[in-house]
Amino acid sequence: MKKHRLLCTPRILHRIWGGMVFLPLGVLLAGCMAPTPAQAEFVLGTVCSINLYKQGSPAIYSEIFSRLREIEAAMSTNLTDTDIDTINKNAGIGPVPVHEAVIDVLERAIQYAELSGGAFDPTVGPLVRLWGIGTDHATVPEEADILAALSRINWRDMVIDRNAGTVLLRKPGMALDLGAIAKGYAADEVVRIIKQAKIPGAIIDLGGNVFAYGEKASGKPGSPTESWRIGIQNPVEERGTYIGILSVRNKSIVTSGVYERYLEADGMRYHHILSTENGYPIDNGLFSVTIVADHSIDADALSTTVFTLGYEKGRALIESLHTTAGNTIEAIFVFHDRSIRLTEGALPMFTLSSSAYQIAR
Ligand code: ADP
Ligand code: MG
Repeated sequence: MKKHRLLCTPRILHRIWGGMVFLPLGVLLAGCMAPTPAQAEFVLGTVCSINLYKQGSPAIYSEIFSRLREIEAAMSTNLTDTDIDTINKNAGIGPVPVHEAVIDVLERAIQYAELSGGAFDPTVGPLVRLWGIGTDHATVPEEADILAALSRINWRDMVIDRNAGTVLLRKPGMALDLGAIAKGYAADEVVRIIKQAKIPGAIIDLGGNVFAYGEKASGKPGSPTESWRIGIQNPVEERGTYIGILSVRNKSIVTSGVYERYLEADGMRYHHILSTENGYPIDNGLFSVTIVADHSIDADALSTTVFTLGYEKGRALIESLHTTAGNTIEAIFVFHDRSIRLTEGALPMFTLSSSAYQIAR
């Protein structure tokens, strides 16, 4: 895969803007004249942009992007010889030694597979490959091929041996896909590095998988810090048009939606979140689900999990996770009929900004 270093190109300005961080455009443009505090690269199959504001140094940016490339080299399904690619090639053959990070992510993925009764499943690979949504060979598959792919999906046929440091897929033709969780893990890794470097506030945007780390300096010395303001994409408008704004401190915000990647064929739109029951893109009246959480791995996995479950079961799952005091896990559901529903804890964080949408109670 090609890796580009894109600094202050129009695409990056759009991406930072589209990545929902609210700054007057003038500030962004001025940032290109002086040394820019933000840095972006194409990695993990998307544009990853990090803004450490005035605290960024070339050394810390370099450490962050090296870590992102390491994660890509272990977890991508689009590159060959990654741990995930090797596990897939050895499906039905034998266990494969992997990085500890891969085991960490797979164990968390299993947790969400179990919580969702398999609606979220990291062994969804055969189906993802078959549809190819987001690639240049996307296609509506034959029914027989969908059934064959479905028969290979089952997270219970994955064997993780933490002591041996290996992963095995028991049956031939099985394949892992971490597209719904790896960027969340990566964002948490960036946070770990930023914390170690004692940087007080940062925006991490891995292709829309956002972590608003710490607090936002108000700009005036001695004055109080502020919340970050993160926009939620309007599903039917251009990227960078928002239905509302979330005000948060130190939280990850991740959205799964039908508008991100899709294939248009026979007057239908086929998107990239797939049902492990019928093998087709999930169609349940939802445009998008946004999760706000303390850890990005949870926000990422849950945005997809809750989307696959639909509003009722998804909301019940989020509410069942409200057991640990002080922990944040909230959800914002956007429906095709332009209504928005929010969990209790998300209400005070959210400001509606589009008159085309309404908050339903
Ligand atoms: P994005 O790709 O925009 O980050 P998501 O986090 O919702 O969006 O992840 C969607 C990706 O997850 C798909 O591209 C695919 O790789 C994978 N996926 C699709 N369906 C499922 C599923 N039922 N369970 C787990 N992963 C899935
Ligand atoms: Mg996700």
